[in-house]
Amino acid sequence: MEAISVFDIFKIGVGPSSSHTMGPWRAAQKFLAVLHQRRVLGSVVRVVTELYGSLAKTGHGHGTDIAVMLALSGDDPVTCDTSTISDRIAAIKEARRIRLPGGPSDRPKSIDFDYDHDILFHVHSPPLPFHANGIRFTAHLESGQRISETYYSVGGGFVVQEGEHATGDRAVTLPFHCNTGEDILRHCRTTGMSIPQIVFQNERVWRADADIRAGLLAIWRAMAECIYRGCHPATDGTLPGGLEVARRGGVMNRKLIQGFGSSGIREYDDLEGWLDVVRHSTREFQQILKWVSTFALAVNEENAAFGRVVTAPTNGAAGVVPAVMMYYWCFSPPGRSTEQGIIDFMLTAGEIGSLFKKGATISAAMGGCQAEIGVSSAMAAAGLSQCLGGSPGQVLMAAEIAMEHHLGMTCDPIKGLVQIPCIERNTMGAIKAITAANIALESDPDKARVSLDDVIKTMWETAQDMMGKYKETAEGGLAVNVSVGISEC
Ligand code: SF4
Repeated sequence: MEAISVFDIFKIGVGPSSSHTMGPWRAAQKFLAVLHQRRVLGSVVRVVTELYGSLAKTGHGHGTDIAVMLALSGDDPVTCDTSTISDRIAAIKEARRIRLPGGPSDRPKSIDFDYDHDILFHVHSPPLPFHANGIRFTAHLESGQRISETYYSVGGGFVVQEGEHATGDRAVTLPFHCNTGEDILRHCRTTGMSIPQIVFQNERVWRADADIRAGLLAIWRAMAECIYRGCHPATDGTLPGGLEVARRGGVMNRKLIQGFGSSGIREYDDLEGWLDVVRHSTREFQQILKWVSTFALAVNEENAAFGRVVTAPTNGAAGVVPAVMMYYWCFSPPGRSTEQGIIDFMLTAGEIGSLFKKGATISAAMGGCQAEIGVSSAMAAAGLSQCLGGSPGQVLMAAEIAMEHHLGMTCDPIKGLVQIPCIERNTMGAIKAITAANIALESDPDKARVSLDDVIKTMWETAQDMMGKYKETAEGGLAVNVSVGISEC
């Protein structure tokens, strides 16, 4: 099986969807690289993008078209200015032109671009054979020649080109191969190392020690900034897309802080100040519960608004892991939350995400929402139990418990938007993760009747049995039973 780095699981990008926004974005970038490589970019006169399967059915709501236009314009999801996305898309549509980026052998080139004819949503065609998220690009050259490439967005922002096999980084040999939970336990038993120590040794194949630590802390910083932005939106207002879903992160943040208001909480004007306020705001169970939900809502409202988020393992489920990490950071007993704890959390959670990707799927188009919220909840449960002193067996047990209670969860986003049920569902995934971690920490994993490997296998079989209408197509469930335009918020 492929070797997956924790940095493949946690990637900084743009909402609202890793498979429908980030993946197509990366696919378009790969296609441009092909044109550069063949030294034909200068003679391109038109680029047509064709979307198949789930990308066709929910691509409008998930911003697939926007991602493709930005990618063809040379933007990168890690660095682009997210505050100008809607203006730039409007400008491309109005001018009916798109400016392809330059490269080593080509200068930037402006070409005609007709939104209605150059991005085709093949809603009534069958999906392409390899995966439910297929995307084909065709470049028309001045000579009349056409160059086509097909890609698959296989979940979590991962992209596979048609006919591609594991090569390069994916084909590296790791010191501790972990394709199953049992592999991890065996490595821990024979070496005496913890799960994050095992994963760290594997990461050293790709990066220097200092870069691993700095990179993970940078991702944690991006997660925390996303929570902060979601708790302090410019306006409470409603999210884009036409469902009129009200933003609640800012409202809940204000209520939680004001509820504690006059008892010595200082003013703040940045992330650090806010974290200090949150940390000292309460030790009450119900209030902490509300904070965890607020953290998750904040991330996924940012995600729905095309903000900058971190895949964990996907964008739709991007709020679960950060919410639980923030719970650990702010509400652990004094002195218990450390940067090393954050690193261990991410190494552990990332490895659990990899196990699900290898043994099942992290693509909702393949497995429904159990593949997104379920996997993220399992990741967060494992990370938290690691940080709270769990043994390797208890850490895997926490992941198992979290997924066991997400099995069969369908993906049925209303209007194809990553809003309902997605945003609230992240709060549920986070709370379940905390509960799962606490149950595991009080349990003897040797007496567990269900292993993590059992639940991964079960999830994959359930995914295969699940009807297509429940796999990110917006053709079943809430997506068809709730009148569009009626908000639940
Ligand atoms: S329902 Fe779940 S899997 Fe589907 S888009 Fe929403 S968060 Fe993603």
